[in-house]
Amino acid sequence: MKSLQELRFDNRFARLPGVFYSPVRPTPMPDPYLVAASPEACALIDLDPRALRTPEARDCFIGARLLPGMQPLAALYAGHQFGHYVPQLGDGRAILLGEVRNQDGSFWELQLKGAGLTPYSRDGDGRAVLRSSIREFLCSEAMAGLGIPTTRALCLLGSDEEVYREQIETGAVLVRMAPSFVRFGSFEVFFYREQYRHLRELADYVLAHDYPALREAAHPYLALLEEVVRRTARLVAQWQLVGFAHGVLNTDNMSILGLTLDYGPFGFLDRYDPGFVCNHSDHQGRYAFDRQPSIGLWNLTCLAQAMLPLLDEDGNRAAELAQQALRGYEPALVETWADGMRAKLGLREAHDGDRELLGRLLDAMHRQQADYTLTFRRLADLRLDDPAADGPVRDLFIEREAFDAWARDYRARLRAEGSRDAGRQAAMRAVNPRYVLRNYLAQQAIERAARGDFSEVERLRRVLARPFDEQPEHDDLAALPPEWADQISVSCSS
Ligand code: AMP
Ligand code: MG
Repeated sequence: MKSLQELRFDNRFARLPGVFYSPVRPTPMPDPYLVAASPEACALIDLDPRALRTPEARDCFIGARLLPGMQPLAALYAGHQFGHYVPQLGDGRAILLGEVRNQDGSFWELQLKGAGLTPYSRDGDGRAVLRSSIREFLCSEAMAGLGIPTTRALCLLGSDEEVYREQIETGAVLVRMAPSFVRFGSFEVFFYREQYRHLRELADYVLAHDYPALREAAHPYLALLEEVVRRTARLVAQWQLVGFAHGVLNTDNMSILGLTLDYGPFGFLDRYDPGFVCNHSDHQGRYAFDRQPSIGLWNLTCLAQAMLPLLDEDGNRAAELAQQALRGYEPALVETWADGMRAKLGLREAHDGDRELLGRLLDAMHRQQADYTLTFRRLADLRLDDPAADGPVRDLFIEREAFDAWARDYRARLRAEGSRDAGRQAAMRAVNPRYVLRNYLAQQAIERAARGDFSEVERLRRVLARPFDEQPEHDDLAALPPEWADQISVSCSS
């Protein structure tokens, strides 16, 4: 466990050519205070969590003081936003400080989000508000608890500085961590500018920095694309399994490492509604929950297009290779999803008819407005020879008989593989979370935090770090959402 001063910073991204980024100085907000910290994220960089409570940490992470080796910069990228290419985006309110190598030899980049203007801020103010920063802090750490690839959140600092959105809010700085923050849009910018040399430099950097093993492949750039396709497919499948809607799947929010990146108006499903749109600014429903799998492929197609000049000098051959890589998407997604769903249902074997059985459950959940998380969690209580134990899951369906009809076939299917209650129940509870960051839970923590009480943020962080454990003292966080949960409006404004 190290103190802040003992961390050794470097910044390899800063050694890329100047066009890749702009050096920037953070603009600290006045009188910062610590709102939240993640001991799990601290452990990733060998940092003693107590170090975050020191004045040095506060100065450093509000952006008022640099540690040796830090080279603050804002990275250039572009991206497709809601289907349209935007030639220049870039870190408008994120500042990369540098990277730390931990004792296992892994690298973690540290980024301040909300630390002031950069050359890419466009019309923005370079700030992030406390409300959305709490959401990103909690969701980053909750996703990690769920075992879903994600950027991490080290800590969150607040300030009373006013920030103007639809209303006046207060500002915050989130300290994010990831092995790399390179996005699909980082490649797109050089493709559309026809700066193919820089495209190659970026690909070489990503290979060296994040995928060193792929450099041994016969065609490293193709191998890179194939690996990003696989990781993205698995990531999206994991979102679908847990009922997570990202909300803004623009290509500038797609990580080259297959991490969940840039938490904005995300949402976890309450009642199961496949067409759920969590972002109230997304009027077309482009990023609806059930469209995420096809959007993942659409975004990868943008990346593949941007990588064409790297794949082959011959345009036709390059396009063929890109198509070949993209064909890996659907099988990887379907396999992860199907295996995951089988595990959620407590099935060890794959039988004909499983797809149909699952389809009927999802259909009933949709029509009967059953809660997504709780249906799967409570399904683990089902016992083969004791229908009375179905009570809690059955009660989630408006017409209880809709559940009963399905449960008869489910029991028959369980018997067909000789399923035993005890083993199945434990296995199901290990994959079906009891706790997810429902919008209304985040909202309650945000309202308290706005009054200066950060205890609910801390409680949620702790509970969501172990989402599969019972934690009976926090039963209230595993309850059905209240009526007002439907009325919460989450937009891009953050
Ligand atoms: P997002 O939709 O949050 O991923 O952001 C899209 C683009 O807008 C990125 O280039 C961000 O850096 C930029 N951006 C968003 N909010 C702000 C802000 N308040 N100040 C400056 N840039 C911003
Ligand atoms: Mg973004």
